[in-house]
Amino acid sequence: MRKTIIGLQTGLMKEYYRYFSKYAKGRTPDKKVAWVTAFTPVEILEALDMLYYYPESYAAVIAASGKEQELIDTSERNDLSRDCCSYSCCFNGCLDNDEAPRGTPPGPDVLIATNNQCDTLPNWWNVLSVKYDVPLIVIDYPGENMPREDALSYVTGQHKSLISRLEELTGNKLDEDRLLAVIENSRNSVDKWTKVISYLPKKNINPATFFDDINFLITSRCRTETAELYELMAESLENTEDADDDRIRAFWLGYPLWYHKDRILSECLEDFRITGSNYITWWNLDYSGSDVYERLFSAYDRTFLNLSRESRAARLRELIRASEAECAVVLHNKSCKCDFVSARNIELIQAELDIDMIDREYLNVGRAKAQMEILKETLCTG
Ligand code: SF4
Repeated sequence: MRKTIIGLQTGLMKEYYRYFSKYAKGRTPDKKVAWVTAFTPVEILEALDMLYYYPESYAAVIAASGKEQELIDTSERNDLSRDCCSYSCCFNGCLDNDEAPRGTPPGPDVLIATNNQCDTLPNWWNVLSVKYDVPLIVIDYPGENMPREDALSYVTGQHKSLISRLEELTGNKLDEDRLLAVIENSRNSVDKWTKVISYLPKKNINPATFFDDINFLITSRCRTETAELYELMAESLENTEDADDDRIRAFWLGYPLWYHKDRILSECLEDFRITGSNYITWWNLDYSGSDVYERLFSAYDRTFLNLSRESRAARLRELIRASEAECAVVLHNKSCKCDFVSARNIELIQAELDIDMIDREYLNVGRAKAQMEILKETLCTG
């Protein structure tokens, strides 16, 4: 039977949420469980037959279901300031209340954090390790701060140490051929996703489609079904009608607004069309290299948020050029100072909105509308 987009999406989600407390019906995982940050080299975990869960992604799901305020309030009462990253506030509130749309993920046997994204995550994982009293492994990715050969050797040492510790935890032995096959799956998922997002500038598509469907590249990039899903999505987008060219082409620079049904501030963007976004390219990891270790290094040491400011700006300029955007909507995100840094050096007229990707109460819609009006007037008179 021919696979369908909805069938593949449902299958991947069912698999991922199988052991969350609302669905587990008392079953507990028969594999070791890790909680990981969004740019963890999960191919190693997949090859070792572990289960892994992403607290950041789950915070986005919670906000999409409208539950984030009560959970942020709870975590604030339990000493996590609202000024911390909202992903952490929302998820920690979910643990404190033992309550969220899909319940809570199965408890971790190990916590794995990386610093190739921000410095908040290792600190957040530290808080989790105290709560759960399980080992915490932090992987340090130097990025462009170190000559490539030195960085490769340093990161490879940490990846090998991660493998040893997880072999010990799981009792499984890593098969390098299996790891290579899993890396190939991830690379294939990235290739297909790149094709999917290439349609954004040309076709009439709700950006929510991209912001929601990238989730599979985050949580399930090692699975063959993810590439199959994206292949079908690309076929479907090819047949979607062309975009309305009367609207102003805008680049969305920052996170999706998880609490918003359209994931963007559509009430302020009636005359605009989103033709590009940096967020939807963040997991387009480069798995190039001569062996598994170089491939993992290329992918995880050079994530977008771990690049130097100059490299980020160059990458952004290229994305903006491909999007054919005339202006940018830049999110000055309360949670994520490191993401905002990426908005510097962009030679494009822009509106800078004070916003948060989870905490809807942080936004002043009237002010954002006025800013977008000014942007429109500037473009029309410029
Ligand atoms: S939103 Fe920013 S600060 Fe929060 S975990 Fe993600 S990268 Fe780190």
